[in-house]
Amino acid sequence: MVEWFEQLPEFIDFSEEVTLADNSKIEQIYLRNNQYIAIIGYKRLEDFARFTSNEDPNIIDTLEFMGLERVYLTGLKRRAVYRRSSEAILRQYIPDYVCATPNKQCMQCYNCYAYGGVIAVKNKTKAIRSRIKLTTSYSLQSAENALIDEEEFHIIVHKDFQMAQEKGEDKKASIYTMNLIKPNTIFPFIDIIFNPSKFDLALFLKTIERSDKEGYGSRASLLGTATTTILAITHELTISHRDLLNDLKLTENGVDASALLQKMPANAITKPEEISAILAEFEQLLEANKDKIWKGLPTEAKTKKKA
Ligand SMILES: [Zn+2]
Repeated sequence: MVEWFEQLPEFIDFSEEVTLADNSKIEQIYLRNNQYIAIIGYKRLEDFARFTSNEDPNIIDTLEFMGLERVYLTGLKRRAVYRRSSEAILRQYIPDYVCATPNKQCMQCYNCYAYGGVIAVKNKTKAIRSRIKLTTSYSLQSAENALIDEEEFHIIVHKDFQMAQEKGEDKKASIYTMNLIKPNTIFPFIDIIFNPSKFDLALFLKTIERSDKEGYGSRASLLGTATTTILAITHELTISHRDLLNDLKLTENGVDASALLQKMPANAITKPEEISAILAEFEQLLEANKDKIWKGLPTEAKTKKKA
């Protein structure tokens, strides 16, 4: 494994109080510096998806970027899915772990220090900025090539088959054209973890796997499941979104990333076996740091093992 990765701390307890020069105390989370790692890769849609929050089924969010109209997946949308997956992974190990986004954020656990949050209760106000920055991702394909129109029935078909409905009535049937993003659409991304630890990265890689299986679509029937290819992990970011969209080439067999990888620093983590090795460290890192991960939980709960 590369040297810079070996030098990362195993875990950082961001709730730890640090004494400043004037003897005041502050939690570690507020003393962030500019250390980071960037995770660079792409998602490939496995099935049809809709990422938009728009109620109108005809509308998919697209935006012109680098000469093409493209579909985009916002960083906020992905962050919401990742945060829930990260919670679910932690809950597999401690069933009593109750922190839940968006309404029950405990502001004491690993997830809250990683994804941030706000408590607005009087005398207890606290705000944590997210250490994990997920950026908006633009489709490699043009929107024209990435989208498909499908006719769908909405709700159920009533015998009078009226589109209009009176106020207070149940919804009646309607037929509409639903705009969907096609499978195999590629969404390259650059994600950043500030003040990273080995545990952060291992859990983040697990979180991606789980989120991909659960999908990013806005409707239960349209899951938007994906697979993610991690191309590089680096602590010296030398590329931008522009490079992702310029240098990743669609081929018959998928995506050719060789031009992009040439722009990576020599010590970037790019080999699949290195990435698997980090994932394989997850359980040991979790076991060694569990008291800090679930701060705020009763001690007996922390010792409960996975069934
Ligand atoms: Zn929490």
